[in-house]
Amino acid sequence: MKNLVIVGFGGMGTYHVELVSAADGITVTGAYDISSERMQVATEKGLETYQSFEAVLADEKVDAILIATPNDSHKDLAIQALEAGKNVVCEKPVTITSADLEAILTVAKKENQIFMVHQNRRWDADFLIVRDMMQKEAKIGNVFHIESRVQGANGIPGDWRHLKAQGGGMVLDWGVHLLDQLLFMTDSRIKTVSANLSYILGNEVDDGFTSIIQFENGLTALMEVGTTNYVKLPRWYVKGTEGTAVITDWDLSGEIVGPNRDVAKVEPKPIQAGQGLTKTMAPPSEESTTHSPIKKIEPDMSGFYDNFAAVLNGEAEPIVKNEEVHRVLRLIEAIFEAGEQQKVVHFQE
Ligand code: NAD
Repeated sequence: MKNLVIVGFGGMGTYHVELVSAADGITVTGAYDISSERMQVATEKGLETYQSFEAVLADEKVDAILIATPNDSHKDLAIQALEAGKNVVCEKPVTITSADLEAILTVAKKENQIFMVHQNRRWDADFLIVRDMMQKEAKIGNVFHIESRVQGANGIPGDWRHLKAQGGGMVLDWGVHLLDQLLFMTDSRIKTVSANLSYILGNEVDDGFTSIIQFENGLTALMEVGTTNYVKLPRWYVKGTEGTAVITDWDLSGEIVGPNRDVAKVEPKPIQAGQGLTKTMAPPSEESTTHSPIKKIEPDMSGFYDNFAAVLNGEAEPIVKNEEVHRVLRLIEAIFEAGEQQKVVHFQE
């Protein structure tokens, strides 16, 4: 059994107790937070608490440390932990820049310790369904366009997420999840990146963004994070050569609609649309289309930590690879460049 100590016992740090308890071969033994109130919560959960980060590093029974502090502190904490001979799980976004991640990876290599980033949304059921559409013989044929969105109306939450110096803003917060999912399921080099950053709430960091990413294999992806959306668009909208899939929300509601190849193609009849007539935009007739439900997949709560424990035991390769995480950070940098300079960035792979 491997012992994990959580550093940063806030909202997400506390949730890791649940995540780890669902996994095999690893257990949470303790926690450290600079806030005494959070340490009290850890004590109430039956965890050993530490008086300092150095005390965690000095504890020989600790095999691994989870870093779940605000984004700007990940780099220094990770480097200190690795230099103390600890394995590290780090929350997303791993660092604010790709250069900072490179600095961590240099130390991890030198110290021969495992460093893995908690890109937990690779195990989200909605994502796994879309990944299947991309990678397997899919009902909707060859996927050529993906729209991946998360939208809320609550603005940027909390305190440090509002601050640039702490790595706040929605590109780094939610964008990193959506972009990680996109690159994980797409087997092609990125060609171009364009983006629009939203500052509608008046923060110094973005409160959302829209980015269009073009891949060399012809796939286009529209990625969007919004915190000012009182009406939400679907979580996923996926177009293939044989149909369109919509996954409305994390409850996996939605459907796949495509042509019914068993009936002869019926020419659409013109419909009245506003002040005009249209055949182009007339809905296909019921008999000429098929409707299928989105297949349900059970969420896998333990996927990340099962893999991390197996990696620690030398029994598996990391599912979240550091070079993939680095590529996502480079894509984030391209999105900022495209958004701030209002230009199309030609991505260098
Ligand atoms: P939070 O503000 O709720 O918690 C952060 C905690 O870190 C606080 O309790 C704070 O006192 C503590 N802290 C700050 N500096 C510290 C230090 N130097 N040493 C020890 N403790 C310190 O924030 P959160 O929402 O829990 O986010 C924490 C991290 O988790 C962020 O990197 C965030 O992006 C990430 N996160 C990931 C997910 C996910 O789904 N993977 C979800 C939410 C948050």
